[in-house]
Amino acid sequence: MIKIFRYGHRIKRDERATTHVCLAARALGADEVIISGDRDEGVLESVEKITGRWGGNFKARLCDSPAAEIKKLKKDNYIVQLTMYGEPIQKIEAELRKKNNLVVIVGSQKVPPNIYNLADANVSITNQPHSEIAALAVFLDRYFEGHELDKKFDGKISIKPGIRGKSVVTCE
Ligand code: SAM
Repeated sequence: MIKIFRYGHRIKRDERATTHVCLAARALGADEVIISGDRDEGVLESVEKITGRWGGNFKARLCDSPAAEIKKLKKDNYIVQLTMYGEPIQKIEAELRKKNNLVVIVGSQKVPPNIYNLADANVSITNQPHSEIAALAVFLDRYFEGHELDKKFDGKISIKPGIRGKSVVTCE
């Protein structure tokens, strides 16, 4: 199981970015996103709509007390925080694959020291500042070694891939 913890969502400002965190997490093999910060039912609705049509068992939920939630998750999950200050993914990925249950924290606003202190490992995707969505995508691809790209979703709609044109298959 791999859960993504979106820390510090802000309504309006992070609406698109948090939705994209959820979409990238779902498409690239994560099981759940937990969103802390402003309560934003709109993000949950967008994600539920996508999963309802495109399939899979992906879940998204809100959380009011991030530190308490992460402490609870720590009992049976290994907690990773994505940050440019962390250990490079290429050095730690093999170690992380040995853990069965991971929670991956991605920030939006500045992540405070109490959350840093709860992480079992800080992991960087380059030591340069960049996008949390890009960082998450690279993390998941490294963690799953590319196998996530073959994941089946069994949705009401799917795409028949082709080198030209668009082909959508609908089974309502
Ligand atoms: N503006 C915020 C601040 O002042 O702290 C940070 C924004 S940053 C785009 C948001 C998140 O992206 C970070 O909390 C981290 O999870 C992720 N991130 C950014 N650069 C990263 C990197 N090089 N490696 C891993 N994660 C990174």
